[in-house]
Amino acid sequence: MLEHVNIDTLDPASTVVVATGNMHKLVEIEDILSGVLPGVRFVALGQLGEFPDPEETGSTFLENALIKAEAAVEETGLSAIADDSGLVVDALDGEPGVYSARYAGVHGDDAANNAKLLEKLAGVPDGERAARFMSVIALVDASGAVLTGEGACEGVIGHEGRGEHGFGYDPLFLPNDTPGLTMAELEPAQKNAISHRFHALQDLARQIMPAEGDAA
Ligand code: IMP
Repeated sequence: MLEHVNIDTLDPASTVVVATGNMHKLVEIEDILSGVLPGVRFVALGQLGEFPDPEETGSTFLENALIKAEAAVEETGLSAIADDSGLVVDALDGEPGVYSARYAGVHGDDAANNAKLLEKLAGVPDGERAARFMSVIALVDASGAVLTGEGACEGVIGHEGRGEHGFGYDPLFLPNDTPGLTMAELEPAQKNAISHRFHALQDLARQIMPAEGDAA
């Protein structure tokens, strides 16, 4: 449980609200962006009060990330950051995509989602099981200005779940960066070093502060 923060005590010029209920995402975002946004305090939306989750009605990760970040800006009057992510499977024409969390019908039912994915891929041979986790991060400031970052983690879908770490489709996803291991068999630090969210945050960080040599 995160400590409650009184919104009136926050300096709008140096605060970014992170629109997620997921502690791991808060820490990951803080770790990567504090380097390029020195002096900024990252506060989870839930620390400021109870806000209803906006409906994710977008048809792309970008649209949904923007819906979440813009809702948090509207609710708090502060800059806000949000991410949207999911699994894209080539043999299923990009499914489950933006429907990843509710693929089997119930939001967040990981076991049912994984079972449906395996069923849909039954009979699909090893060479045709390519997939990627994708993440889009949106940073929206109080005036409505938007910066976005995008990242992917390439891999293949296995034939059975393995591993105890992570969440979602991690037990079925074998990243190309870690041959033979599912995402759920990686320690959190190993996952965070190759994940789609890590790459999206790095992409965003580069736009906040382009590295020397990046400039055209
Ligand atoms: P959200 O962006 O947190 O709403 O995540 C959407 C859904 O995509 C999750 O419920 C998972 O099913 C899937 N997903 C996103 N990121 C990951 C990941 O790192 N590992 C496994 N599944 C993920």
